Amino acid sequence: MTGGEAPAIRTRGPKVQAWLAALEPRLLIRNEWVPPASGDTFDSIDPTTEERLAVIASGQADDVDAAVRAARGAFEEGPWPTFSPSDRARLLRRFADLIDAELDDLAELETLDGGILLPVAKGLIAGAVDALHHFAGAAALVSGETVPSDPTYFNYTLREPLGVCAAIIPWNAPVDTAVKKLAPALAAGNTCVLKPAEQTSVSALRLGELALEAGFPAGVLNIVTGFGSTAGAALVDHRDVDKIGFTGSTAVGKRILAASAATLKRVTLELGGKSPNIVFRDADLAQAVPAAMRGYSALSGQVCCAGTRIFVQQDIKDEFVDALVHCSNEITVGDPLDGATTMGPVVSEQQFQRVRSYMDIGVAEGAVARTGGAVLDRPGYFLQPTVFDDVRGDMRIAREEIFGPVVSVIPFSDEHDAVLQANDTDYGLAAAVWTSDVSRAHTVARRVKAGTVWINNIMKTSVTMPFGGYKQSGIGREGGPHWYEQYTQEKAVYLKY
Ligand code: NAP
Ligand code: MG
Repeated sequence: MTGGEAPAIRTRGPKVQAWLAALEPRLLIRNEWVPPASGDTFDSIDPTTEERLAVIASGQADDVDAAVRAARGAFEEGPWPTFSPSDRARLLRRFADLIDAELDDLAELETLDGGILLPVAKGLIAGAVDALHHFAGAAALVSGETVPSDPTYFNYTLREPLGVCAAIIPWNAPVDTAVKKLAPALAAGNTCVLKPAEQTSVSALRLGELALEAGFPAGVLNIVTGFGSTAGAALVDHRDVDKIGFTGSTAVGKRILAASAATLKRVTLELGGKSPNIVFRDADLAQAVPAAMRGYSALSGQVCCAGTRIFVQQDIKDEFVDALVHCSNEITVGDPLDGATTMGPVVSEQQFQRVRSYMDIGVAEGAVARTGGAVLDRPGYFLQPTVFDDVRGDMRIAREEIFGPVVSVIPFSDEHDAVLQANDTDYGLAAAVWTSDVSRAHTVARRVKAGTVWINNIMKTSVTMPFGGYKQSGIGREGGPHWYEQYTQEKAVYLKY
């Protein structure tokens, strides 16, 4: 592994620099940029330099109330309810095109604010553009049914939007996560309030500007930056919010589910994971090893579906670990704007300390770090990619979500043992299986308790496929053929002749 010295030059496009210099702490409510009622702000930090990147408005209950009123007004009255699906689709496509035209600059904002590698940020935003086009196309496919009835009745169902949908999102892929909540909600005719993560609000604010340019009617898309305990909780408690679409930690997801019971909101939870990556002796290791490396180190390990428990068949375990260590040592840790870098920092000081403590916990539990296990001696939240060997399934590093570039390798004897160990977790977001035996691949895919299973690949996602968790990894699915179920409700209509 290389890295260690702070790079001499940190390039920033002049356009991005000018935009950041002009950025004011504002909320987007009813198509206007307004200061928070309290006047409170907080700093957003560049995790590469630990310096302030921007000052962000700290939205609180009053601001949330204003945003929800704006969204409610737009849902009930404004022009939005008169929009046909193709009108909504046209706006979504215009929004997509504007994001696409700004892709490089938006990606740079993600890199500066969240430490995401520039090419990775570009790829994620391209995925968001794709999602907008997808849901634009899907808007007209939301429909009710005619249903068998008595001869003197005509029975049918209407599939209607829920109303005001709040999106509360984490910091690891801000534009992508925001768009994948907003696009289906808007396509189905809802209005939205977005609460970005406090660590990465900057790109959401640029998204807000582009939404204004796209021409969404006032109140259809509102953005309240701020903290989870204030802005986020106020959205969850608000009686006029119909749905919470949440992506984040399992701990906060549970709190949101409990709090939303008071107003019986619809809730979708996309939560954490400790996803198994199962490698059989007949796997193509030339593919499986680099994939395992990407599986735990992509986005500096800050991926909900990261393959952080690698189960390797006993007789190839040592060979596999050697190869994974070799591959991990090729990772270049450094400035995520630098083209030579292959792993950036983690998002914040808090996350840095958290991951670092797990490195110590692993050693204290008796696991052996075959590579990594330390932080980089430079400013910024840089950690070494870390491969733990001699891990047992009952160790904390094998059970708790670390959300950093730390992976545990655990041996298994046979297929049954692999499945039992893979399922021995409270989580169930994703799983990967590597084998050249087709029957085994399908058997394991069925037996493993996870919302997504990858066979001979890892971390592939598509908006046309449902994404979500088994067990404590979540409730509900995003995307997929039945995406609209999360953003609409059915009404039964009986007409008597
Ligand atoms: P987090 O702490 O759960 O925060 C997520 C969002 O919820 C943030 O916007 C946060 O605001 C807000 N929040 C915090 N407390 C709240 C409350 N009481 N009421 C309402 N909102 C509240 O998660 P994170 O640390 O940002 O992100 C990492 C986690 O996200 C990991 O566990 C990861 O697995 C999970 N994740 C899951 C998926 C998935 O699709 N399954 C995808 C990505 C990440 P603040 O900004 O103030 O914290
Ligand atoms: Mg930041």
